[in-house]
Amino acid sequence: MNSDGSLRSTQPPATRRSIILFPLPFQGHINPMLQLANILHTHGDFHIIIIHTQFNSPNPSKYPQFTFQSIKDGNTEYQYNITTLTDDPIYIFNYLNENCVDTFKDCVAGLIQQEPVACMITDAAFFFTQAVADELKLPRLVLRPSSVLCAVVYCNLTLFYEKGYFNCTNKDPFYDAPLPEYPIIKGKDISKISTKPLGHKDFANKMFEYMKQSSGIIWNTFKELEQPELETISHNFPIPHFTLGPFHKYFSGSSSSLIDEDRTIMSWLDTQPPKSTIYVSFGSVACITESEFQQVANVLENIGLPFLWVVRPGLVTGSKWLESLPETWLERVGEKGRIVKWCCQKEVLAHRATGCFWTHNGWNSTMESICEGVPMVCSPCSYDQPLNARYVSDVWKIGVLLEDGFEKEGIEKAIKKVMVDKEGDEIRERINALKEKLNLSLKEGGSSHKSLKNLVDYISSF
Ligand code: UDP
Repeated sequence: MNSDGSLRSTQPPATRRSIILFPLPFQGHINPMLQLANILHTHGDFHIIIIHTQFNSPNPSKYPQFTFQSIKDGNTEYQYNITTLTDDPIYIFNYLNENCVDTFKDCVAGLIQQEPVACMITDAAFFFTQAVADELKLPRLVLRPSSVLCAVVYCNLTLFYEKGYFNCTNKDPFYDAPLPEYPIIKGKDISKISTKPLGHKDFANKMFEYMKQSSGIIWNTFKELEQPELETISHNFPIPHFTLGPFHKYFSGSSSSLIDEDRTIMSWLDTQPPKSTIYVSFGSVACITESEFQQVANVLENIGLPFLWVVRPGLVTGSKWLESLPETWLERVGEKGRIVKWCCQKEVLAHRATGCFWTHNGWNSTMESICEGVPMVCSPCSYDQPLNARYVSDVWKIGVLLEDGFEKEGIEKAIKKVMVDKEGDEIRERINALKEKLNLSLKEGGSSHKSLKNLVDYISSF
């Protein structure tokens, strides 16, 4: 086996076997896992079995072609509805890793008695599944649904922790300067990753330790986007790597949204001029403060451009939905803008009226924006987001990072830069060039296309 996953010798053709997939129950992890399931079902003719927790369970009726198996996750402590989720995700990740061991193992053991299972593909954050795979002698592949660049930076988290980067403030010299160990990143990017750095780095280290022991890693990216980072990670983790992203481009339709999508906004978007509208969303988990929320509202009211703003219930810490909006704001804005609880993001980004994406830079959102050639204004909150945002702004140069957070003047300048100024045209040209590379990678002979073939051959060889 070569590091790009291609086989050294010719393998027999695939027979119809099963693959067990186990997504981490968060929107940004469920989406790519179910997309991968669809890809392997269609392109590899595998029977797909999705094992899922009770917490944030996917809707099986949307996927009649798959078999779903629910397992008990020991959940007694937190809400089942992501819209009311206020707990620390790392706490929930650890909780699930401790409480799903027996139910997951029993479920997999039962399945391999009944049918020929080629392998399991589990979210990298479910590190406990490696021991189960070893015990049951079933190969485990890992889906890591964030960027490769994030993994490369995260390999240094212990060092960064010891150097004090997590706690740095604007008084530290490295706060706004390239880090000697990783000059693309600044101290402030690391400081944003987590407010609980000890637990965060310990979790990441454990996840990586078990990723290294797996039979291979699947990334939702494409080679041309992250070539240097892929070389580094292939060196650090000498196991097969598969880069067949972006997953959602293999087929259209079929949404794995945990929240109902408001589709009424599509007809409103239809009435907006081309590339005129700002799309604003901070994903499924990120929270902002009331004053940050009010800054967003003020900017959107004053900027004079149409906007579509996703305000997820729970987006504002301590509030239910829109009660933090300034008084009479909705009346003042009128037809100029729309607020929804959740939307069909990929369709919104693909709409001709969408001119820029003000995003938190979750990896799915970042990839979806690149796919549609929509320049970004970046407001990263935590985890991998500050790292993705730094690459969007400083490496790929396809967006503008709000260096000073939710500060009114900075936001207005950034949006105007992207939507109105000449510099915006250059940003748009660069993101469209990347979009073209991405489309080529998916075509016959392209890097993602080849990687998918390697993955199917590899799984068939087990
Ligand atoms: N999303 C959506 N509708 C929305 C907002 C987000 O369908 O109104 C989807 C988006 O397309 C993406 C996912 O939710 O696939 C968010 O994942 P991401 O990695 O960007 O961020 P996370 O939610 O994990 O922070």
